[in-house]
Amino acid sequence: MDVKYKDLIIKGKAKSVYTTDTKGKLIVEFRDDITAFDGGKKDVLKNKGGYNAEVSAFFFEYLEQKGVKTHFFTMLDPHHMVVRKLEMIPLEVIVRNIAAGSIVRNYPFEEGTPLDPPLIVIDFKDDARHDPMLNDEIIIALKLVTPAELKKIKKVALEVNRLLSALLEAQEITLVDFKIEFGRQGKTIYLGDEISMDSMRLWDKKTGESLDKDVYRFEKGDVMAIYHKVAQRITGPVKKQ
Ligand code: C5P
Repeated sequence: MDVKYKDLIIKGKAKSVYTTDTKGKLIVEFRDDITAFDGGKKDVLKNKGGYNAEVSAFFFEYLEQKGVKTHFFTMLDPHHMVVRKLEMIPLEVIVRNIAAGSIVRNYPFEEGTPLDPPLIVIDFKDDARHDPMLNDEIIIALKLVTPAELKKIKKVALEVNRLLSALLEAQEITLVDFKIEFGRQGKTIYLGDEISMDSMRLWDKKTGESLDKDVYRFEKGDVMAIYHKVAQRITGPVKKQ
């Protein structure tokens, strides 16, 4: 795909977005910056962006094959993804299969408790307000989406959960939870942003070991060695059972 960079329009905590010379297409750069705790902990870890981009591209392609509309077009190189230009919706849509992270800190769930059916939790993407949790009434009152769009977003989030849980299960990885973001082009809702080790919680099915950003958050080991291994495990051939 012959797409050329124009201007940097967004520099987030770990990704940058560029306009291009092609109408309706943007380039997302997956940088090597890693942050946690609302930006309170930051580092640059060589190749981190590449691993996250590789896994995101792999998931987006898989989801597209299964009928989920995503913003993904192609990779330009290991750190740069060509995507559909969307009007992003400022919601962080989190699906939880097992209690971990903030739901355990904020509510009386015990870590490791299965959540069946999975819980959908939606936060307001607003750094200055520390991404507060929303409910359906607030989402509609703020006119962030229409009731029909909210219904669609929840349906797609559960479908993504079903598809990725099964895919990861085949690699003996438990999808504990993940965060996704959506955007629109016209009236159509697409999955945007990324789906990577930075935005998922993954546990090794056998050992319970963390295979995601919790390794960085809580200094559980060599983050890059784990990201490298898990990226290979996710995108590699399915293990023989
Ligand atoms: O921290 P919490 O338990 O709420 O996170 C739930 C899931 O959403 C985790 O997989 C986490 O990595 C992801 N998340 C994210 N970006 C945020 C908040 C959470 O990717 N801003």
